[in-house]
Amino acid sequence: MNEFSLIQRYFKSIPHSRRDVLFGIGDDAACLQVPSDMDLLVSTDTLVAGVHFLMDWDAYDIAVRSVNVNVSDMVAMAATPCWVSLALTMPTLDESWLQRFSRGLSDALCAHHMALVGGDTTRGPMSITLTIHGFAPKGRAIRRCGAQIGDAILVSGPLGAASMAVTPFVQAVNDKDQLVLMDKLLRPNPRVDLIETLRFHASAAIDISDGFCADLHHILEASQVGACVMLEHVPVHPLVQQHQPDRAMDFALWGGDDYEICFTVPPSSAHFFPDCYVVGVIERELGLRGQIRQGPIEELSSQGYSHF
Ligand code: ADP
Ligand code: MG
Repeated sequence: MNEFSLIQRYFKSIPHSRRDVLFGIGDDAACLQVPSDMDLLVSTDTLVAGVHFLMDWDAYDIAVRSVNVNVSDMVAMAATPCWVSLALTMPTLDESWLQRFSRGLSDALCAHHMALVGGDTTRGPMSITLTIHGFAPKGRAIRRCGAQIGDAILVSGPLGAASMAVTPFVQAVNDKDQLVLMDKLLRPNPRVDLIETLRFHASAAIDISDGFCADLHHILEASQVGACVMLEHVPVHPLVQQHQPDRAMDFALWGGDDYEICFTVPPSSAHFFPDCYVVGVIERELGLRGQIRQGPIEELSSQGYSHF
């Protein structure tokens, strides 16, 4: 098998039903149609073996994860994902790995009605780079820089499970709960259900990949505002609370990989997000602060995962 039959068998064969792909894999470039009333949003994420995933993970999960973390970036912009291209670098041509990878890719793309439209395939240390494209009605993409003083800060779901799953603490957990925690790490579920509502009501948004505090800090910096978080309202994943009560808040605040959305809305719009948690308020005073009930206000570190 050479590079071309590999592309044919594992990538060109992935089906889609998008009419806006005039032609995809097989030419020197794909030809794609953006509706005239839409803006095109583009984002790239790389997954490096040993950094973002381990080589002993199922290739199916690796593919699903790489699609889903990219979809999450589109959700954070309130954009509807549509196309991806894939730059795949592998040390060897392992057909059973490719088969699992291709199946995961196909299932994850199909779940979000997306098409694989091109890419590049090379030999080298394993890494997977996906570039995702999405649409938002013209001028309606949500950015990090729109948070206003007085806005409520919301989080879309429980935090801390994925980051606990990468620590040795998860080994001490019973099998059933361990599976739930590992599932949060291996198969993050991008919150596509929120895209429409965010588009209408959010003033700023980000997906939580580096950790809640680190990612909220990005919104604060971009918007040139500060925030106070009501720590008792931060949604800690129940299994993290149960198995690591002393560290649960640390996982929720500073652990990454949850792929929930952190966003801000005018306080009168919070009720449009009944499944989300109001965790704080945007303030004029710069910096990130936390408070438990009416207790003392403390500075919160904005450190999250950083590669360098
Ligand atoms: P080129 O020599 O112009 O770089 P390639 O041989 O790399 O072209 O790719 C041939 C076609 O296959 C192109 O349409 C490219 O987009 C597509 N392709 C290559 N690798 C992948 C991949 N991993 N996933 C999807 N499409 C791919
Ligand atoms: Mg190429």
